[in-house]
Amino acid sequence: MFRNLFLIAAILLVVWIIRGFIRRSQLTGAANKPRKNKDMVQCEQCKTYLPKDDAIVNNDKTFCSQQHLNDWNHKA
Ligand SMILES: [Zn+2]
Repeated sequence: MFRNLFLIAAILLVVWIIRGFIRRSQLTGAANKPRKNKDMVQCEQCKTYLPKDDAIVNNDKTFCSQQHLNDWNHKA
């Protein structure tokens, strides 16, 4: 009887350790996943740096938002 309890406890412990290991490896895998484009560009209007993927490009100028593109066009 006690031997069976010990066996069940041992199995649960192993499952718990394996689950923790899988979760940890999934987290590190997500963190190490390379980004599509790491280039940073500067918004012409507010001079904020942002990823090129998120930038709005207009006439070779980059902007952080449609609002700043509009502001720049009004200023120019
Ligand atoms: Zn901006």
